[in-house]
Amino acid sequence: MWGWMVAVATLAWGCSKPKPVGYTRFPQTLIPPPGREVAASPAPPAPTVPDPSRLPTSPTPPTVQVDATTAPPAPPVVAVRPPEDNEPWTPILAWCRARGLPTPEIQTGSRAVRIGGIVHHLGFEPVERAGAVCIHPLDRLKTFEPLLQAMVWPTPRSVVLDPGHGGSQAGTRSLTGNRFEKEFTLDWALRLKPLLEARGWTVHLTRTNDLDLSLTDRVRIAETVRAGLFISLHFNSSFPNTQARGLETYCLTPCGMASTTTRIYADDISATHPNNRHDDANLLLARRLHRQVLAATGTADRGIRRARFMEVLRGQDRPAVLIEGGFLSNPDDSRAINTPAYRQRLAEGVARALD
Ligand SMILES: [Zn+2]
Repeated sequence: MWGWMVAVATLAWGCSKPKPVGYTRFPQTLIPPPGREVAASPAPPAPTVPDPSRLPTSPTPPTVQVDATTAPPAPPVVAVRPPEDNEPWTPILAWCRARGLPTPEIQTGSRAVRIGGIVHHLGFEPVERAGAVCIHPLDRLKTFEPLLQAMVWPTPRSVVLDPGHGGSQAGTRSLTGNRFEKEFTLDWALRLKPLLEARGWTVHLTRTNDLDLSLTDRVRIAETVRAGLFISLHFNSSFPNTQARGLETYCLTPCGMASTTTRIYADDISATHPNNRHDDANLLLARRLHRQVLAATGTADRGIRRARFMEVLRGQDRPAVLIEGGFLSNPDDSRAINTPAYRQRLAEGVARALD
């Protein structure tokens, strides 16, 4: 996990749940079933393995040796266009309809929306204006407009997998047994590597054993091998709250937008980081990963989220995403994550996302 969790109310999408005041719900039948990627919708009128269930018993060297003196410098920060002050909020249902996107499910009073079966967290709460549900122009620009694009894979296809934690940084402790996040993230990555290689990807791991590795070194490895994508693998915790469970996928918060999750860092909404140049691709990658891991595991959908606390993502000059594959603080999630079969499903979900 990354620090502690912000308390976020469990999303109540089920029809049997009472509707909160101000709730605006749209026909479930208009939401395509999971598995259909929004980007594959009809073109709109163009708007603008081995069983590594245990840690390796003998140390193996990292896949990549990093030489700090030769690592390329961080890419320059680029400006991101903020919406104009007078830019109107967007009546999002009509906007989606005109572009062939599925009708989103939106709750006024909540930043969580469901688009094409996947929960996304917006930067601003939707509002009702003249009888229409409207979203902030930055949410339209950074969450809905990217869905009109198809994911473009890097050439050549290369990816860095980053098993979170390692060595003295054990990560969060499993509620089930005396096991730690660092072991499960490495196992996930080792299972995933051959699956991606079989799909033609060149795969680098930031660590292949129980190694201490700084966040800076993880980013530097991706720079050194000139990786096309970066995927950081983690497990979550909300301890002592043991109720929270399910999948969360993070990408960097776009400039001007409030983060979904803030922890010990101030969330400076005016901040722009190098990785913000990949805002659209970050979201498309997050969406593919989130959808496929949900489908592979059947776990709860806690949504695609934005955060600025992840140093491991901020400086990346490539699409970069961090997945929290379940809560080690939840009894059900923890029991599942302790099984090799579940971790294999996690790996297969990520691999299918990169097909
Ligand atoms: Zn973690």
